[in-house]
Amino acid sequence: MLIKSTPDRYDKLQILGGMAASDDILTAGKADRGGHSLSGKFAAGSIGSGRNRVAYSDPRKNPAPGIYKASLPNGKKINLMRVMFTDFCKMDCAYCPNSIYVPRKRYAFKREELADTFAELHQRLAVDGLFLSSGIAGDGTKTTQRMVETVEIIRKKHGFRGYIHLKVMPGASRELVERAHRLGSRLSVNIETPEPDMMRRISPHKDLQKDILDPMAWINDLTRETSGGAVGQATQFVVGAADESDRQIYHRVDQMYTDWNLKRVYYPPFRPARHTPMEEKPPVHAGREHRLYQMDWLRRVYNFASYEIDLAFDHGGFLSLEQDPKTVIAMENLDAFPIDLNAASRDQLLRIPGIGPVSAGRILENRRRHSIDNWRDLQAMGVVRKRAWPYVVFPGQRPPSGKQLRLDLFGEASDRRAAEAAGVTLPPPKSGKLSSIMEPPATYNAGGTYDGHECIPGSRGAMCAGCPINPASAS
Ligand code: SF4
Repeated sequence: MLIKSTPDRYDKLQILGGMAASDDILTAGKADRGGHSLSGKFAAGSIGSGRNRVAYSDPRKNPAPGIYKASLPNGKKINLMRVMFTDFCKMDCAYCPNSIYVPRKRYAFKREELADTFAELHQRLAVDGLFLSSGIAGDGTKTTQRMVETVEIIRKKHGFRGYIHLKVMPGASRELVERAHRLGSRLSVNIETPEPDMMRRISPHKDLQKDILDPMAWINDLTRETSGGAVGQATQFVVGAADESDRQIYHRVDQMYTDWNLKRVYYPPFRPARHTPMEEKPPVHAGREHRLYQMDWLRRVYNFASYEIDLAFDHGGFLSLEQDPKTVIAMENLDAFPIDLNAASRDQLLRIPGIGPVSAGRILENRRRHSIDNWRDLQAMGVVRKRAWPYVVFPGQRPPSGKQLRLDLFGEASDRRAAEAAGVTLPPPKSGKLSSIMEPPATYNAGGTYDGHECIPGSRGAMCAGCPINPASAS
């Protein structure tokens, strides 16, 4: 990319739009299976997210640099201008390509310049909304002030009433948060990591409580007091940067969803950036991000209780990379299955692996007219037979035996062994029911003993009825 010594506003858009693409707040992956409601006072629709880091795969079709497609839940796409006000940052976040550690030339917009560029692109129908973030130049309050003033020009001078997602910089004052709240359809403060001591390790000059959690609480107060919930709030982690566990992330997420009614949380994985203190740190396994989005989905959409989601973590506090958290939770709760599809509540249906909100709704709708008694019907309703079959029972059918369930579970265990053979590093299994099922002791089937219980010699494929590793006897 050729940058003139004095870049014009489109050069800056190309550079700072490209930098904003590394901010994942609008680029959740396929695992993030939902859209987020754009219930902002200026917006009529909603923006979802797809893994569209480069929305226009063919650059010739891209209306302008820095413009990305964002998906609405109804499938409609809008053009979103995603740009940083400046990529200069005085902070020393050890994972960040914009931190002071990285030696490169930095750029910044002027307020009018950025506002006029956006308005011009909007007039040309090239963009429908704005996502504005920034590095911290000066301090959080000053940077947020420049961003707020830019958005004020867009709203007041250019009369733009559409979607604007405005990042609030860590450390912004309450007064600036209030001004941002009056202007934005959505606000976000990046939390990055769940605990204060972790924040001190990876961003020594950020105070998690004062700089991040306090502004988030203010946004929540303002949303409840002044906008009737119209302004949504979101945040994002940098997963793995502080060696936190998935459980630690979840507990913070649970607090934020509960206390502040967040619309969305995003889980971009840590990737090492050159010249930063963490450039040698290995990247986080992509599957971890996927599992965190699935966990988030269970919490936010399926309304799983915290005690249920806690079952999905292993002893180290991590989600399984080999199985989705809903299946792990079901395997930890075998005594709740199989479920009679013709009598189950919506909540019960949603706890069956392979059944989601859409297929649960179809089951409830269809069973008003007729009994659901075969897999062909269920699959037509969107149920994933491969995942659901051990957990459901049809009218007149004997519930799947413990042996059937066990066979299915051992099948999954085979997948684990295949993953490990392929060199995929998996978190250690916990030693509860799940790990007992997945990893039968060597003495099993060998005529030995397990936990003081004598195994039946040669009983390959069948466990003794009283064995604590037999799922049929576990409760
Ligand atoms: S404050 Fe934000 S932009 Fe600045 S170094 Fe930290 S993470 Fe990067």
